[in-house]
Amino acid sequence: RLEIQNIKRQFDGLNVVDDVSLQVQPGQVTCLLGPSGCGKSTTLRIIAGVDMQDSGKIFVDGNLVCDTVFRVPPEGRSIGLMFQDFALFPHLPVAQNVAFGLKGGYSTNKARVDQLLDKVDMLRHVDSYPHELSGGEQQRVALARALAPRPRIMLMDEPFSGLDNRLRDGIRDQTLEVLKDEGAAVLLVTHEPAEAMRMADEIALMRRGKIVQQGAPYNVYNAPVDRAAAAFFSDVN
Ligand code: ATP
Ligand code: MG
Repeated sequence: RLEIQNIKRQFDGLNVVDDVSLQVQPGQVTCLLGPSGCGKSTTLRIIAGVDMQDSGKIFVDGNLVCDTVFRVPPEGRSIGLMFQDFALFPHLPVAQNVAFGLKGGYSTNKARVDQLLDKVDMLRHVDSYPHELSGGEQQRVALARALAPRPRIMLMDEPFSGLDNRLRDGIRDQTLEVLKDEGAAVLLVTHEPAEAMRMADEIALMRRGKIVQQGAPYNVYNAPVDRAAAAFFSDVN
């Protein structure tokens, strides 16, 4: 379970993240949804531990991982990351890419790696190199790699935006299935309402650093908090 409390971050005197609080339960997907520049990636970077908040607290499964005086380093937070630029290691075959974060490499973790590759339907490519794979296939390997160490939390920043339109819905559905199966608490950043409607158990609508509305996709869509929220959702069909 991920819980963040009253996170604030300023850049150049501007409140980029302005008192954001959120909870994500295991097995649930929360979409942080909002227009470009509203502070989504900054929020994710702070949770991941690669940027630091000015104030506020972050908990993983009830344990404090960061406040203004105490800070667990990124690798100690049980957080998996997947970004738009999910670059696999080009010199390593799929098996070693997925095993990268695991002690002992592929030989020691064959069962876990093969299980994940099977889930993302890539087991037959276990010996392939990234350049031999399509964009969608690389994306699926990147998902397996992020999940391999069994993170309690998965942070995903626009993970589908580099993909072909044709592929995107299928990969969204498959990704969702694998995430649910693995049971991590997922915080997924997107600026596309349609993606949030498709994937989220809960939507947190962000604008200028603040969460302006939060709830089930259906409720946020049907009862937007104001005109701007309604307009933002108007292109979903
Ligand atoms: P997008 O959908 O375009 O990815 P976003 O919601 O992820 O947008 P952020 O990347 O969090 O937005 O940026 C929010 C604001 O903070 C932007 O105005 C950005 O210019 C500013 N910002 C982010 N990082 C820094 C930084 N290191 N130094 C100064 N300003 C920054
Ligand atoms: Mg961003």
